[in-house]
Amino acid sequence: MKRRTFLKKSLRNAALLAASPSILTACTKDKTPIDKSVIIIGAGISGLAAAQKLKEKGFTVTILESREKAGGRLRSNRTLGVAFDEGASWIHGIDSNPITSLAQKAGMQTFETVDASRKSYDVGGILRNDNNYQQTEDALYDILDSLMNSGNAAQSFETVFNAQYPNHANDRLWKFFLSTYVTFDTGDLNKLSSLLYNEGEEYGGIEKIAVNGYDTIANYLATGLNVQLNQRVTKVDYTGSTVRVTHNGTVSEADYVIVTVPLGVLKNNSIAFLPALPASKQNAIQKVGMNCVNKFLLTWDTAFWDDVQYISYTPETRDKFNYFVNVSKFHPSVNALMTFAYSDYARQTEAMSDAQVMNEIMSHLKDMYGNNIPEPANMLRTKWQSDENAFGAYSYTAVGTEMSHFDDLAQAVNDKLFFAGEHTEIDYFSTAHGAYLSGIREADKIIDLQ
Ligand SMILES: Cc1cc2nc3c(=O)[nH]c(=O)nc-3n(C[C@H](O)[C@H](O)[C@H](O)COP(=O)(O)OP(=O)(O)OC[C@H]3O[C@@H](n4cnc5c(N)ncnc54)[C@H](O)[C@@H]3O)c2cc1C
Repeated sequence: MKRRTFLKKSLRNAALLAASPSILTACTKDKTPIDKSVIIIGAGISGLAAAQKLKEKGFTVTILESREKAGGRLRSNRTLGVAFDEGASWIHGIDSNPITSLAQKAGMQTFETVDASRKSYDVGGILRNDNNYQQTEDALYDILDSLMNSGNAAQSFETVFNAQYPNHANDRLWKFFLSTYVTFDTGDLNKLSSLLYNEGEEYGGIEKIAVNGYDTIANYLATGLNVQLNQRVTKVDYTGSTVRVTHNGTVSEADYVIVTVPLGVLKNNSIAFLPALPASKQNAIQKVGMNCVNKFLLTWDTAFWDDVQYISYTPETRDKFNYFVNVSKFHPSVNALMTFAYSDYARQTEAMSDAQVMNEIMSHLKDMYGNNIPEPANMLRTKWQSDENAFGAYSYTAVGTEMSHFDDLAQAVNDKLFFAGEHTEIDYFSTAHGAYLSGIREADKIIDLQ
């Protein structure tokens, strides 16, 4: 589904994009070493992009990563014979998007997902009228274009929307659209800013989904880098002339450190900073929101669903397994559907057993396709909220967030401590491309200091 179709388009990062093609080609060339070292905390796409750029310039770069593999929120599980992307799946708008060229270089195969290839069902398995569906979608875009004019700093999107459109609040189709078009992209509607819900930029062009795994890009970027896995950083001491980083009880030192851990990890105070981070950064860490989206892949021996790209279902409960991606469209040999839970319902699923989750998903599918459909053969699922390496899915503009907070998150401290990651990218926060651009941005800052 197209994210942020209602948002503005911008090529503000054209200069950064122009810089990106050289990345990685350089790791095969000899460089005149710069006698400076950099530790990067986190081997997600932002950390890997920064590392490649710095290595290309001759810095000595070490990445400390707490997980057992590189990639962070670019994570693909292939245990069911198909790449299930637990984090990012789509390249959102392929035109001028740095992920487009990275995907080509990395060998990430992609498939165009077409929104118009869809069927929508109401409770009781009643096929929804396509015109009505389309009209509601158009009406939502109109509302999203203007709701901020009635918004204010103290009230959530939900409060303002419900006051303006009380008839929509309990309408199942509206609940579906708000959930899959707004909450999925941003965060919990009762916490989402009524002023800033549509901030952020978007690339033009079609949407493409990764076929052989988004981690293909992470693996490509990690080539030739010194990535130390299973290294959990607990302390960053930048009181001296070098920065001292404590990980697994060991202390490593470098001239510069780039912190790329997710906003959820910063919110959780998982890393102690000495001295404490500036008040403006601490405030921004609190004020910018971190949402939760969970993904579920189910496989069957035989397919029973419509031969379309998207199947939507409009249950009473918002944010609950209301949208199914027909994975068989791009993996014809596999009978699989991918579905989602968002915001508070996503968090609730993390306490549910696999059997409970399957039961809930199957109740929606049975309502659409009948009680005789087969039980799934297997299921894979995510638990992003309780993942101590993320504590959530991606950042969003919550009540209390100001756009300047994204710049505060990106602000370097004492020209020694630098910050990258999707949550530091004011134009493209919450995306893989935003994270990538943030890594290049911070590498450039360090390069410019030489
Ligand atoms: C469910 C979901 C769906 C998404 N869908 C899309 C999509 O379709 N398209 C899109 O463009 N984007 C999508 N995104 C967003 C995208 O995946 C992220 O914005 C991007 O991958 C973030 O990269 P990053 O480098 O900022 O952070 P990360 O990838 O999270 O990297 C940070 C790294 O830091 C490590 N770390 C954490 N704590 C420590 C510690 N104490 N010590 C050492 N290392 C630590 C983590 O393990 C991680 O590897 C999605 C994300 C999620 C979760």
